Amino acid sequence: MSILHKAETILHQVFGYEQFRQNQAEIVQQVCAQKNALVIMPTGSGKSLCYQVPALVLDGVVIVISPLIALMDDQVMQLAQLDVRVACLHSNLDYEAQQKIERQLLDQQLDLLYVAPERVLTPRLLGLLEQTPVALFAIDEAHCVSQWGHDFRPEYQQLSQLIERFPQVSRLALTATADELTRQDIVKHLQLENAQAFISSFDRPNIQYQVHAGLSNAKQNLLQFIRQYHSNDSGIVYCLSRKKVDDVAAWLSQQGLNALPYHAGLDAKIRQSNQQQFLMQDKMIMVATIAFGMGINKPDVRFVAHLNLPKSIENYYQETGRAGRDGLAATAWMSFGLQDVISIKQMLDSSVSSNQRRQVEQTKLQSMLGLAESCQCRRQTLLAYFGETLEEPCGNCDNCLQAPQTWDATLAAQQALSCVHRSGQRYGVNYLCDILRGVANERIRQAGHDKLGLFGIGRDISKVQWQSIFRQLIALAYLNVDADAFGGLSLDESCRSILRGEQKLLLRSYNATAKHPTYQTTTNGQKQFLNDLWQVLREKRRELASEQGVPAYVIFHDATLMEMAEQRPQTLAQMANLSGVGQKKLNAYGDIFLQLIQQHRQTPVDAMKTASADESIQLFKSAMSSEQIAAQRGLTLETVYAHLAQGVASGELELQKVTGLDTQSQAEIIAEFEFSAEPGRLKPVYDSFQGRYSYAVLRCVQASLGKLL
Ligand code: ADP
Ligand code: ZN
Repeated sequence: MSILHKAETILHQVFGYEQFRQNQAEIVQQVCAQKNALVIMPTGSGKSLCYQVPALVLDGVVIVISPLIALMDDQVMQLAQLDVRVACLHSNLDYEAQQKIERQLLDQQLDLLYVAPERVLTPRLLGLLEQTPVALFAIDEAHCVSQWGHDFRPEYQQLSQLIERFPQVSRLALTATADELTRQDIVKHLQLENAQAFISSFDRPNIQYQVHAGLSNAKQNLLQFIRQYHSNDSGIVYCLSRKKVDDVAAWLSQQGLNALPYHAGLDAKIRQSNQQQFLMQDKMIMVATIAFGMGINKPDVRFVAHLNLPKSIENYYQETGRAGRDGLAATAWMSFGLQDVISIKQMLDSSVSSNQRRQVEQTKLQSMLGLAESCQCRRQTLLAYFGETLEEPCGNCDNCLQAPQTWDATLAAQQALSCVHRSGQRYGVNYLCDILRGVANERIRQAGHDKLGLFGIGRDISKVQWQSIFRQLIALAYLNVDADAFGGLSLDESCRSILRGEQKLLLRSYNATAKHPTYQTTTNGQKQFLNDLWQVLREKRRELASEQGVPAYVIFHDATLMEMAEQRPQTLAQMANLSGVGQKKLNAYGDIFLQLIQQHRQTPVDAMKTASADESIQLFKSAMSSEQIAAQRGLTLETVYAHLAQGVASGELELQKVTGLDTQSQAEIIAEFEFSAEPGRLKPVYDSFQGRYSYAVLRCVQASLGKLL
């Protein structure tokens, strides 16, 4: 059996997944051939399978080096559900437990062992590793070797000792951090000069980006957003300060939501317990400073909200990236104001000592502000920042879903810039707005600014609108903010072309309230059509999880339950076809869930189920590809094909259009189904073609035979 075939069999049987994603197959082959590799893939794209599958293919143990206990525990918990022989060694274990694991290691009874970097370098463990065959060192979160990154860990650099001691063992470095400096550091410190690098696109198509500037009541808008779109979901709300975290968490709780705070100022026990609850529960909001996040593997975080501007696009990307790791639709919502820019600058001034570094940080902040005030597709702007080009606007961000209104703001911009100039380039936005609007307050009169020619020239523009104009002028770098002088504005050289009228300026119109674009399939919408059955399945999952003391997603991921609710398998074999149902989970939970589905069939079928399939079918008819439908609706490709298969079964869609098969291939597959001993099952047919046709294609052909429904 070829290695790839063996790996695929493991993928199906143990993990219950149909296909490798993107680069996974190539990486797995490389690793199984015991060659070094460097993997850079965004969060949620499936890095861990790149060493977990080889661990089951190769002889010997795979040592996974991971920086955080929470991360290790999470993976061990998930793998244990699949009957994989796995353990982790860390300081939270007592001596006896450690000894037991060391024994298992020596007896070659482990496929994977998770360890912290400082632990793997102890003479004791090094000695043990010498006495047992090691298949691979997988170095997770490899960006921790880089001093440039935010997660620098000196122990990671010492891993070179491990490499020198075991030169024959291959290495796999994995990270979601893409920048060039970090990459060079990884290659240098982990000696990967000759390793093949696998770099994936950084796009996270299932995340919908929404940014709101200068909302008059951000908290209220956040609440409305959660109620409307994520009332049954888990999410993270990020705030800049601890105080704000406490306030917002308390306020959301008062409003009847299940919200807890998390920041470095809380007692360690409380922090731990809050984090634990967040992991375990299905429906919880964590209000946190950015101290919270790394090591959070929760796949079903459905939204990440920012109540302040992050300090760089890197931060924004990383923090929003914690949403939707399972690939289902998720939202990144942000509200910010100019005060955030000033606060961040003040923090930089007090914490960053070198001038050069401060300059770098300020440029990063400027780019973030640019993204936040942009009228273009957010995803295109975001990816461009990381050097990636997205050819078309994404169709899944606020600007794409609802083109921002713009207006010719050239004259107003000239007035704003002149106002900065005439008043001496040292006042903040509020003061400048007052001059423009002709508010003759004490301070203005004392400074004699009520005598300026442009005093009151902008009366017909509201204050919030002026604020928006100033914010955009700052985002476009025509104005600079001075944090020392409490946000005093000064002119940038580049503003001359505006002042001289050489350039027309279109700005975004100010919107007083956050309008959430109507996105057909927010997760609420998605779940609504599955309604009763989805709730029933989820409830059972919760029950099973709490019996075992594990998070719900350890039993089944949302993605799996959603497929289950949609496809309603009638037999164990059909259940096994769902993504995320491997042999072990089928044995453990298959009957329990089949029974629930069976019972549900006896209640009247909710018409909404077909409504969802119908939506996909209509989109397909409107010439969208199945990939586009999956991205727009936040569904897995498997689910979209299951919908399209229904269209094929009902005769609404042509098999050939859906699958792209030529007549000969079609005939070949049909023959295989007809000769199959179990025509209701896809796997035997899939296997007989040795993977030449995807499950999705086979499912559609099967549907055309009228055997699916
Ligand atoms: P990362 O470490 O890159 O953030 P994970 O390894 O945690 O991502 O994987 C993210 C999610 O994708 C997990 O729920 C995982 O089970 C799922 N996944 C990974 N590979 C596949 C695949 N080939 N098919 C289906 N689901 C997958
Ligand atoms: Zn877009």
